[in-house]
Amino acid sequence: MINKQISRYVKVCLLCGGTNIKMPNLGLDVRMTIRDKCLDCDYIGNFPEIDVKNAEEFKKKLKKTDK
Ligand SMILES: [Zn+2]
Repeated sequence: MINKQISRYVKVCLLCGGTNIKMPNLGLDVRMTIRDKCLDCDYIGNFPEIDVKNAEEFKKKLKKTDK
């Protein structure tokens, strides 16, 4: 079920622009010791959270700068 009243944010990978970020369970990660992981390129680190609506734009920008 999707709650449209909540603004939706996704974490996006800076390397590949993927949004398949595996996030640790917040209840288990009170110290923020568990890193997020991109399931697309296996990058582990911190991922910026952006609005879902901007995710596509982000990907486009990423592809433009990609060689
Ligand atoms: Zn990635």
